[in-house]
Amino acid sequence: MLEELRRKLTIWMQGRYGIDELTKMLNILGIVLLLLSLIRPLRFLSLAALVLIGFNLFRMTSRNIPKRLEERQKYLLFVSRIRPFFTVIRLNIKDRGTHKYFLCKDCRKVLRVPKGKGRIEIRCPECGKKLIRNT
Ligand SMILES: [Zn+2]
Repeated sequence: MLEELRRKLTIWMQGRYGIDELTKMLNILGIVLLLLSLIRPLRFLSLAALVLIGFNLFRMTSRNIPKRLEERQKYLLFVSRIRPFFTVIRLNIKDRGTHKYFLCKDCRKVLRVPKGKGRIEIRCPECGKKLIRNT
């Protein structure tokens, strides 16, 4: 019975997009919103969760694979652009006693300098961009 259902689902999913990184992230976000709407019943939270889950179902079952791959590329680019910000925040908390971290505006490399050196000029070893920061 379960095998039969799985077989039918596999056939039905043929030629459809399926799951990717964006789906997984939106699923987590949808579940978080759903749980939040249980704790604090706000109409827009449960509505947003439903919209996310609906959009995910649409993406997973879509036959327009080039369009879904394009969305995936945009998502991965977005993640690669925001990830360094979170890295800098995390490192600044972790090494708050000894070092300070900055992000190069040009190449987005994480720069580490010793703390307590006052206002200094930092040169990015990757691209050569100079920035002046308080340490
Ligand atoms: Zn740089």
